[in-house]
Amino acid sequence: MPNVTTSLADVKTLSDYDKERLFNAIGEIITLSSYAKNLTQEVRENRFSKGKICPHCSSELVVRNGKYKGKQRYICKTCKKTFSDFTYSPVAHSKKPIDKWLKYAKCMIMGYSIRKSAKTVGVNIATAFFWRHKILQAVKKYMGFGSVEGVIEADETFFRISFKGNHKKSKTFSMPRKAHKRGDKAKKRGISKEKVCVACAVDRAGNIIMDLICLGRMTHKQLEGFYDGHIGGNSIFCTDSHKSYIKFTQNLGLDHKRVKTGHYKEGLYHIQHINSFHSKLKKWIKNFNGVSTKHLSNYLYWFKWLQFFNEDKEIVKSKNFLVHSNSNFIKVNIKDLKAKSPLPILI
Ligand SMILES: [Zn+2]
Repeated sequence: MPNVTTSLADVKTLSDYDKERLFNAIGEIITLSSYAKNLTQEVRENRFSKGKICPHCSSELVVRNGKYKGKQRYICKTCKKTFSDFTYSPVAHSKKPIDKWLKYAKCMIMGYSIRKSAKTVGVNIATAFFWRHKILQAVKKYMGFGSVEGVIEADETFFRISFKGNHKKSKTFSMPRKAHKRGDKAKKRGISKEKVCVACAVDRAGNIIMDLICLGRMTHKQLEGFYDGHIGGNSIFCTDSHKSYIKFTQNLGLDHKRVKTGHYKEGLYHIQHINSFHSKLKKWIKNFNGVSTKHLSNYLYWFKWLQFFNEDKEIVKSKNFLVHSNSNFIKVNIKDLKAKSPLPILI
């Protein structure tokens, strides 16, 4: 077992570069451990931001009910059930300590693969996979669908359908088409039903809405469904000249600025933000070597989270990512995850 004196003697033999690396690594260990200590408190404050609430029945008649294994328990006077600060959260029922979850959150922020995350944190691959999806499901709930207003830049982007993770051991799933090899071009060029359409909009205040909308090109009716209740009155839509947006804005009586493809700059009304948003999204999602379509929506909300908290340092992001993902009541189990529809289309 090394002691401080011998360890310090070893440090002196290191190059300046390695000393600095070690210094940064130790700093991170200290920060993570202080974050781990305060995490429960932060999650509690978020969950009870409007007063105590029961995760089982939403009653506000909640009182403390002692501690169990050092963790605060609560009891609901309405449904008589007890709960902790983490009931119905990704970390609920986990036997791993919270600092492992923090390390894991950092791996997600860094964009590590499941395999690399598992190795870094010291959990097995199945656990790393399940943790990722529990966190993502919760982040999606935390972010919510949202809304946009004012000058809105809207456009859609396409992802090839991927049935990754559906067929290997499933007795019920059969491929609706022959499998592609990764890297194959989708057979039909352009926009076909082999692609899933993701509708996106950003406003000038930085609000984002985006989700899967349909297969192939969307119709104005689908756009109406997508935006229903999520746009401010008197909004001005900036889009390319696609006819679905023309009909959609006409039907809703919205102001519509059509920006010709290739003509990015037209004063105040342009689609530069949405174009750059899409290219960042595509670049980021490439890290994951083809996201299964059934999980794509979760990844979109993950990306949305990253855009919102882009300014923070990585370590702060990791902590907030974990706090936010544990702030809502959400029940995710492996069975539900496996039972997800391979082609989840919103409208
Ligand atoms: Zn209750």
